[in-house]
Amino acid sequence: MIQRAYKYRLYPDKAQTEYFNKCFGCARFIWNRMLEDKEKYYETEHKLLRLTPAKYKDDYPFLKEVDSLALANVQLDLEGAFRAFFEKRTGRPRYKSKKRSRASYTTNNQNGTVSVTDRSVRLPKIGYVKAVIHRDIPAGSKIKSATVSRTAAGRYYCSVLCEIPDDIRPSLPAAEERKVMGIDYSSPHFYVGSTGHSADEPHWLRIQEKKLQREQKKLSRMIQMNISGYTGKRVPVYKRPLEECRNIQKQKRKIAVIHEKIANQRNDWCHKESRKIANSCDAVVLEDIDLRGLSGSLRLGKATNANGFGMFRTYLKYKMEEQGKYVIMADRFFPSSQICGVCGCKNPSVKDLKIRKWVCPDCGTEHDRDINAAINLRNEGFRILRTNNTAVI
Ligand SMILES: [Zn+2]
Repeated sequence: MIQRAYKYRLYPDKAQTEYFNKCFGCARFIWNRMLEDKEKYYETEHKLLRLTPAKYKDDYPFLKEVDSLALANVQLDLEGAFRAFFEKRTGRPRYKSKKRSRASYTTNNQNGTVSVTDRSVRLPKIGYVKAVIHRDIPAGSKIKSATVSRTAAGRYYCSVLCEIPDDIRPSLPAAEERKVMGIDYSSPHFYVGSTGHSADEPHWLRIQEKKLQREQKKLSRMIQMNISGYTGKRVPVYKRPLEECRNIQKQKRKIAVIHEKIANQRNDWCHKESRKIANSCDAVVLEDIDLRGLSGSLRLGKATNANGFGMFRTYLKYKMEEQGKYVIMADRFFPSSQICGVCGCKNPSVKDLKIRKWVCPDCGTEHDRDINAAINLRNEGFRILRTNNTAVI
């Protein structure tokens, strides 16, 4: 079984919008109440309190108006968050805020309470909600759950999680005939392939980012104009509360729309790039780099790209996997950029990231840094496939 989520844009009517917002509010409310009670209990008893939403329904009757599964899922999420915290995988669970947190709730499919039709998504308690079904759920798959969310720009989406049987896998050519491509995460480009092909993030993303900057500047100027002074801790005193300034709110909305536009465009582009690769080769080899560490350091402006590349890697991985193909991670310490792709000698002097082109001291081949690294990754992939022929990664 493979799990796959399909995300649809929803167009709820007025009553449905109201209901969704109520669900988001209740999910946030119950999260915060449970977190508070758990924390208080932990302080005195040093044990984790087990809680269910039922306990709160008597004190807060409005919780009964929304989907009870939405509340039950909050309980599971919160327990998961505490588990992650105790296992030191993440920080302490935080309180959710109306402004900062993503507005969403998750519900489960119980005997067809969640389903997808031609033009709508059916959800418990609210029924059919108009939606654009841009892609059908594969036949024979089972719907597990649905997550409704609202973006900062006020758009509604529903992500439907399905279980798909994975017995339909095409057979792959023999190991020697497989098309293997090395992919090097590159700094001026987005990636460079061992075929010499490189992809840059499209220039219109840069254009949108410029636009975003301009609008953000406008907003900060508007806020500046509304400040009458500062309190001791540099906290501004506003002439009027920001919520009442219609123009500031309007500007904030405008910025949220641009942010979403950029995210959507980047997402779309990553899907298309990874699809191209996934369809054209049988195995890809990537460097096992720590992208989180990379975005933390400011090396060569890679930081701005790192986010997009992580997304690209995830998409590529599942697109390969669903075709039964291979994604091979070269060892973190594999010196892909220092080896000569022709004769195999190691040249540590090219460690310096500023060197873009170099000549091999042994065989005299002229190398482009990134293409050479990608070729080495491909060769490494061939080696791994030969020694580990049966492993599907
Ligand atoms: Zn050489």
